[in-house]
Amino acid sequence: METQEHKDALLKKRGEILGGGGIKPLQASMENNTRQGDMADQASGNNEVHIQLKLKQTDAKILQAIEEALWRIEKGTYGICRDCGEEIAAPRLNAIPWTRVCITCKEKQSA
Ligand SMILES: [Zn+2]
Repeated sequence: METQEHKDALLKKRGEILGGGGIKPLQASMENNTRQGDMADQASGNNEVHIQLKLKQTDAKILQAIEEALWRIEKGTYGICRDCGEEIAAPRLNAIPWTRVCITCKEKQSA
């Protein structure tokens, strides 16, 4: 397992979240909504805001997980499951470098 590669992936993802799709597009949509009188336009506009809000919440969660993962890399505990202390499988880390728990604990959480 190459920690440096995971670190690069984490930093890249963090840059994507911070760089694009942030607060600005959401504010723009909301401004449009207040200016549009047409009901159909308003409905689709609201839907758009809802989706962007949802994305934003997800991004914030991922961002926090990325910060934690980067911190764990510094501490040398990266790739260790937060819940059971076992090593997280490499394919899972490659797919979701900011994951905190192994697949077994993740499945327990959602069960
Ligand atoms: Zn675990």
